[in-house]
Amino acid sequence: KKTRHKNQYAVIGLGRFGGSVCRELHNMGHEVMAIDIDQDKVDQYSRFSTHAVQLDSTDERQLHGIGIRNFEHVVVAIGDNIQASILTTLVLKDEGVSQVWVKAQNMYHQKVLDKIGADVVVHPEFDMGKRIAHNIVSDKVIDYIDLSDDYSIIELRASDKIDGETLMSLQLRAKYGITLLAIKDGEAMNISPKPDEPIRTGNILLVIGHNNDLERFEDTEL
Ligand code: ATP
Ligand code: ATP
Ligand code: CA
Repeated sequence: KKTRHKNQYAVIGLGRFGGSVCRELHNMGHEVMAIDIDQDKVDQYSRFSTHAVQLDSTDERQLHGIGIRNFEHVVVAIGDNIQASILTTLVLKDEGVSQVWVKAQNMYHQKVLDKIGADVVVHPEFDMGKRIAHNIVSDKVIDYIDLSDDYSIIELRASDKIDGETLMSLQLRAKYGITLLAIKDGEAMNISPKPDEPIRTGNILLVIGHNNDLERFEDTEL
C-alpha cells in the first residue's frame, strides 16, 4: 500500500510565478516537489524544494512514475504553453490529485480548465494588476511623516469598514503594535480618544508605528 503524503505539495513549472510559490512553501517549512521540463530550472530550484525533478508533465507515465497521485495539492504554473497546461491538468485529475490549482493565461484557458476539473484557477498578473490599480488611487493615506526608515506617523481616512469600531474593539496595540494618537472629525481634533468612542466613516486617524504594522492595519481594518 502506498503511503499518503499529508500536506505534500508539488509545483509544476518553475517560471517566476511557480518558482515563487515553490520557494514560499519551502520557506514555510513544507515539503514541496519542484518539477520542470527544463533541467536548468530543476537545478536552480533544488535548494528551494524537498526534491526537484525534471520531467514532461504532459506525459502521464512520467507523472505516474513519481507517484503524483500521492500528493495532496499540485500547482500547475505553465503559462505560455496553454496546451501543456491543459494536458497536465487532465493527467493530474485522472491520477486523482484532490487539489489541482492552475495558473491561467487568459479567459479561454480558464474556461477549459474549469471544464476539465481544475479546482482553483488563478490569474496572478490580472489580479495583481487590479490590486496595484486600486493602490494607486487609494485615498486612505492622506499624509505621512517619516520618523525614521522604519517608523512613521500616518494620517488615514476611515472607510465604512471601520465605522463604529472603538479603540477597545480594534485592539490596535495588541494586534498591530501601533498607537492611535488622534481622531480628526472635520475641524474637531480629539487627541485623547476614549476606549469606547466610536470611529466614524470619514474620520481621519492619526496613527504612529512601524511601517509594516501600519500597512497591516490599513490592509486589514480600512
Ligand atoms: P512566469 O510565471 O515567469 O510568467 P509563465 O507563466 O509565462 O511564467 P512559462 O515561462 O511559459 O510560464 O513556463 C513556466 C515553466 O514551465 C517553465 O520553466 C517551463 O520550462 C515549464 N514547462 C513548460 N512546459 C512544461 C512541461 N510540459 N512539463 C514541465 N514543465 C514545463
Ligand atoms: P505580462 O504581464 O503579460 O507577463 P510582460 O511583463 O511579459 O507581460 P511584455 O509582454 O514584454 O511584458 O511587455 C508588455 C507590453 O509593453 C507589451 O504590450 C509591449 O508592446 C509593451 N512595450 C514594450 N516595450 C515598450 C516600449 N519601449 N515602449 C512602450 N511600450 C513597450
Ligand atoms: Ca509570463
